[in-house]
Amino acid sequence: MQVSIWEKESFYAPKDVVIAGSGLVGLWCAYYLKKHYPKVSITIIDRGIIPTGASTRNAGFACFGSATELLEDTASMGEEKMLELVEMRWLGLERIRKVFKDKPIDFEIAGGYELITEQDEIQKKELNARLNVLNSVLGKVINKKNIFRLSDKKIKNFGFHQVTHLIENKLEGFLHSGKLCQYLLQLVQAAGVTVLNSIEITGHEQIGEHVVLYTNQQIHITCSKLLVCTNGFAKQLLPELDLVAARGQILVTSEIPNLKFTGTFHYDGGYYYFRNLGKRVLVGGARNKALEEETSSEMITTEKIQKELEYFLSKYILPGEEFLVTDRWSGIMGMGPEKMPIVQKISDNIFCAVRLGGMGVALSPVIAEKMAHMMFR
Ligand SMILES: Cc1cc2nc3c(=O)[nH]c(=O)nc-3n(C[C@H](O)[C@H](O)[C@H](O)COP(=O)(O)OP(=O)(O)OC[C@H]3O[C@@H](n4cnc5c(N)ncnc54)[C@H](O)[C@@H]3O)c2cc1C
Repeated sequence: MQVSIWEKESFYAPKDVVIAGSGLVGLWCAYYLKKHYPKVSITIIDRGIIPTGASTRNAGFACFGSATELLEDTASMGEEKMLELVEMRWLGLERIRKVFKDKPIDFEIAGGYELITEQDEIQKKELNARLNVLNSVLGKVINKKNIFRLSDKKIKNFGFHQVTHLIENKLEGFLHSGKLCQYLLQLVQAAGVTVLNSIEITGHEQIGEHVVLYTNQQIHITCSKLLVCTNGFAKQLLPELDLVAARGQILVTSEIPNLKFTGTFHYDGGYYYFRNLGKRVLVGGARNKALEEETSSEMITTEKIQKELEYFLSKYILPGEEFLVTDRWSGIMGMGPEKMPIVQKISDNIFCAVRLGGMGVALSPVIAEKMAHMMFR
């Protein structure tokens, strides 16, 4: 099929910026580019019918890190970097709420919790001491007191089994990932951004002042600046980047009539997570049970991880409860040797904002605004 002159001069017209990837990062980048530089013309290209990576396939946690994860981050990357990440996530959550308000995207500060079991071998006194240190450090970037505290009394009410301590974070919540992406997409389209789906960018070439993008269709698109926001798939276009595709798997149960808990829950340093979806339970993670296999961009579920998630549910979360699994899926994250995302100018014409890790919902608005200024300031 040949491209008509009309198509060439409208849908496929040369643009100031082409963004590869219409996940949260690509969409927020378009949002902030239009907000700060309204004259910049933009096309977003995604190979999926809808965004098909992590943004519409995650767990919908509106979080900035569980206590043990932040303590581990402090040990591995230092306090300054840990705080930088937490601050970006916290500001990101505030921005999401400011732009969309809570109701349209089902945003709710339902409370976040972390489960500590006997295997963690930590005493209450020691845990309290660590939380006190963490709370005072976090006070530097979040203007709230006692963010994390022990709420062991809730363990029984929630019906958990073999859980020795529960750390509560009263600032954590959840949202509807599909609605967030859909509303953001509508916002950027209303601002004049062209969005093309089902086109894969297969390569790019600098020709003079421009970048020519090659695709899996008979279409080439030209732009002044290419912004790569393809996260876990970014090596296809920028092989030099230090990141890997990391699969995350999820399942959702049918309604549990007497479900006893609401909120978001973390376990095992963030490797396991679950939340209520009304009276249903969404549970995901367990990548650490098959790290090598799950270092993959293949969007499938595997029996090993799905069985592990079911076992986790019946052992700790819904002991003695019958449940059916109604939905199973996976999404692909971008991860690397460190948790900082890559927000980088590659050359005068090529930029990237990728490697969002496992908490990209909160991070994406802030790094997108940073990227918008990096491209045009
Ligand atoms: C199972 C799972 C659970 C998660 N849970 C949470 C959570 O609860 N809270 C949280 O904050 N974070 C969570 N995350 C992480 C979060 O979803 C991501 O960090 C975030 O969505 C990353 O957004 P992105 O736009 O960078 O990437 P993506 O959403 O992956 O977007 C990249 C896009 O690029 C497109 N693309 C790829 N290659 C090409 C190409 N060559 N040409 C054109 N298009 C291309 C893809 O189709 C995709 O739409 C989770 C992730 C997963 C997988």
